[in-house]
Amino acid sequence: MKKERGNRFKDFSNKIFGRLTVIKIDHTKRTNSGKISIKWECLCICGGKTITTGQRLSSGHTTSCGCALKEQARALKILPFGVVAKNKVLSAYKKGAKKRNLSFKLTEIQFFELTKGLCHYCGEPPMNSSSRSPQTGTYI
Ligand SMILES: [Zn+2]
Repeated sequence: MKKERGNRFKDFSNKIFGRLTVIKIDHTKRTNSGKISIKWECLCICGGKTITTGQRLSSGHTTSCGCALKEQARALKILPFGVVAKNKVLSAYKKGAKKRNLSFKLTEIQFFELTKGLCHYCGEPPMNSSSRSPQTGTYI
């Protein structure tokens, strides 16, 4: 018995998922289990494009071309958090990027530059440089 019936996939064209609007099928791929996996080309509200599966779209896994993640990173940098939390965030980003078959474009140093805004919280300069600019003028 042949199970191939051609059009048994869900048509996602013109559907909107988060920031993405599905444009068309980019390509199809047969998975290891023999299913056809359809990759959809999606246009993001920021103008970026991404290609993902309907499953990822409908599950809410993919909701932007990646710009939402960048915004999250920007929001995170104003939060005070420690090294453990930072590393957690970094590995989560790396995993996320890997899952989406994207390369993680920031180096660790760049990433921590972006996220080390600890002092936005209290407005104080870091301890190790405070002696250079003592606010009281009497620091010895
Ligand atoms: Zn975008």
